[in-house]
Amino acid sequence: MTGHDSIAVRRHQREWVDNAIRLIEADARRSADTHLLRYPLPSAWCDGMDGVNVQLYLKDETTHITGSLKHRLARSLFLYALCNGWVGENTTIIEASSGSTAVSEAYFAAMLRLPFIAVMPSSTSAAKIRLIESQGGRCHFVAQSGEVYAEAERLAKETGGHYLDQFTNAERATDWRGNNNIAESIFDQMHDERFPIPDWIVVGAGTGGTSATIGRYLRYRRHATQLCVVDPQNSAFFPSYAKGSRDVVGSSSRIEGIGRPRVEPSFLPGVIDRMMVVPDAASVATAHHVSAVLGRKVGPSTGTNVWGAFTLLAEMISAGRSGSVVTLLCDAGERYGDTYFDSEWLASQGLDPSESTSVLHEFERSGRWA
Ligand SMILES: *Cc1c(COP(=O)(O)O)cnc(C)c1O
Repeated sequence: MTGHDSIAVRRHQREWVDNAIRLIEADARRSADTHLLRYPLPSAWCDGMDGVNVQLYLKDETTHITGSLKHRLARSLFLYALCNGWVGENTTIIEASSGSTAVSEAYFAAMLRLPFIAVMPSSTSAAKIRLIESQGGRCHFVAQSGEVYAEAERLAKETGGHYLDQFTNAERATDWRGNNNIAESIFDQMHDERFPIPDWIVVGAGTGGTSATIGRYLRYRRHATQLCVVDPQNSAFFPSYAKGSRDVVGSSSRIEGIGRPRVEPSFLPGVIDRMMVVPDAASVATAHHVSAVLGRKVGPSTGTNVWGAFTLLAEMISAGRSGSVVTLLCDAGERYGDTYFDSEWLASQGLDPSESTSVLHEFERSGRWA
């Protein structure tokens, strides 16, 4: 759009944007909120183990139409771009994504009949590529995950399109004070529980957007809840947090969806009360364990989350402190059948979950963390 567009052209553009926003809002209105599941800890604990009563909850983000917590982000990024006047009826939408964000964005692009190109590392799972292409999206591959940003910018220039830029815009596109964001939804759903204000909320960071929204909301509502961010090996987030500097470089994460080679602009360390590194083998072991307990497969970043939540629960138990912990079920394991749920693939990556599995079994037996 230029300053020379006539009033009639601008009116037409506004009508298109109005309708686009109506379509996104109508889709949200037809959709239900995601469940907050109670994780079945050993029943003795909830009845009081030496008087201690701890509870664990999983916010089940798999039930969004596009199957992951990225559905929320994709909706927010499209609304942000539309309301800023950055996207019109012929705009090609570009994104740099490790997969899940592009799956959700392809859904919204198809809804608005906009061409969509996802720039992704070539290691992205075949299942995610199929999901993007089945919604009419195009996949454009780069060799290393660190190359996605520059390539997405280049494609946006070349096509005259709009780069949604999840890693920059995640924290600012989300309504952190409410509007049924993930934090508000969790607190609403906890309202009638035994311990409605959780001691901890545990999340991973990919863009950092979810932790930014939750951390801001906790402060805004003056809740006593603390925010713990779990990070995989090789990620730049934990060393950056520990050093108090954004000038840190990591390398490619082996846990899809979380951990980044660079400190993303949407990662806000000031709202995080604690960070924890979870070994990749422990994330995988916990994803397998939770899948067996729930009778349905969960993705690897959910394993990272639950490992962190168990660590905190064990600390509460050993301190004789009752209360609740909330974490996220980010996406389902069906997307990872030929990776994290394939023993040959795990061996090829040098990921051996067996030692961590013993830690998990001992925790569920005794409440102690080895
Ligand atoms: C993106 C993602 C996360 C992390 O969420 P952010 O809000 O981007 O930090 C965790 N798990 C999965 C599966 C994801 O796709």
